[in-house]
Amino acid sequence: MTRFKSPRGTYDILPDEARKWQVVEANARSVLRRSGYREIQTPLIEDAALFLRGVGEASDIAIKEMYIFKDRRGRSLALRPEGTASVVRAYIQHHLAADRDVQKLYYLGPMFRYDRPQAGRNRQFFQIGSEVIGSHSPLADIETIWIWKDIFGRIGLSNATVSLNSVGCRSCRPRFQEAIRDALSGVRDELCPDCQDRLQRNPMRILDCKVEGCRVFRDRIPPITDYLCTACEGHHATVRQTLRDLGCGFQDDPYLVRGLDYYTRTAFEIVHGALGSQSSLGGGGRYDDLVAVLGGGNVPAVGFSAGIERILLALDRDRFDWRGRGSGEGELDLFVVYTDPEAREEAFRQLLDLRKEYRVDMDYTEKSLKGQLRLAHRLGVRKVLIFGTDELKRGAVIIRDMLESEEKEVLLKSLREFLKGHSTMQGGDRVAGI
Ligand SMILES: [Zn+2]
Ligand SMILES: [Zn+2]
Repeated sequence: MTRFKSPRGTYDILPDEARKWQVVEANARSVLRRSGYREIQTPLIEDAALFLRGVGEASDIAIKEMYIFKDRRGRSLALRPEGTASVVRAYIQHHLAADRDVQKLYYLGPMFRYDRPQAGRNRQFFQIGSEVIGSHSPLADIETIWIWKDIFGRIGLSNATVSLNSVGCRSCRPRFQEAIRDALSGVRDELCPDCQDRLQRNPMRILDCKVEGCRVFRDRIPPITDYLCTACEGHHATVRQTLRDLGCGFQDDPYLVRGLDYYTRTAFEIVHGALGSQSSLGGGGRYDDLVAVLGGGNVPAVGFSAGIERILLALDRDRFDWRGRGSGEGELDLFVVYTDPEAREEAFRQLLDLRKEYRVDMDYTEKSLKGQLRLAHRLGVRKVLIFGTDELKRGAVIIRDMLESEEKEVLLKSLREFLKGHSTMQGGDRVAGI
């Protein structure tokens, strides 16, 4: 028989690991909701042309990394490689601009890129992102940076730092692109084949090249901030000054560019020492041109997206202590057992009722009483309710304290009251500790 495995670059999130994901998600949702953001969900598949246009046909993602396939009618579809293009497509399609001037949206879900799998980088990976669509204000950029620093801090990565740059706009960027061509034309042959191509099509992406032979030429390139137009320069100055005034630390990184063509002005990454120099927790910035590129008019926007795998990798390398974090899934307040098959139905009925307030479970494999108690012990449940035919005739149940090995008979009608008096139990979903 064939034994199946998850495809290369994908993996299962087993329950012990899922608990960590829930901590990340819960903190992100909590901060975003308090900041006025609302969730939006878009399909995992979209018209391939949306991403080809949205991420720019010349970018690496479009060319090498997208999963594109034909459906049964021959339509060209793609698994989404990122979230923003889909959110903007939905924003335009559903006329969300008519609902409110500024839409603050967040999304979370899997994205797909056909990349070489490595630590913290998978073919199916999970992102959480936020978008502010409809505002030119530098405050929207600052809020985005602030919110994500806050989220990372709450998760346990308080030493994450912000790298900041401006990538200009359509009117000032061409002069910078020209400056890069001038600076590197003499060493064209020494660049990697990708960068030789970029020198013509998209010179700014050379700043992003990871090949050592290309990185050595970076110092020849003047900082983009020397080439910003007055409007871009003013915007960048406000973002930097306000962050300083707020005590939100950042580092200027003149070589920081975004991989996607629709980014304008503010570009930033949030990095963490544990991930090394080439890996960030997430990246974002302004994309004032994307809505227009996708046919939605001249609407400015700014956003950020974080990779959950990166966050968890940083926490792992930081030896983060997960004890006491998470929703306590799988932990039980009570375990229900029965002494004989006649008592089973009543035991089950009581279990369903107790679940209105407590986390309760029972054995579903028809074990003996001894086997059921052993299971309760293995699951680490402190209190076990033992239902027996004799006790039920008296309208009673036995409560066994597994730690003290004590038993006590309690009338069913006063069971709730008894349980409330013994406060070792949580009672309902535990959300503290997220
Ligand atoms: Zn400009
Ligand atoms: Zn290169």
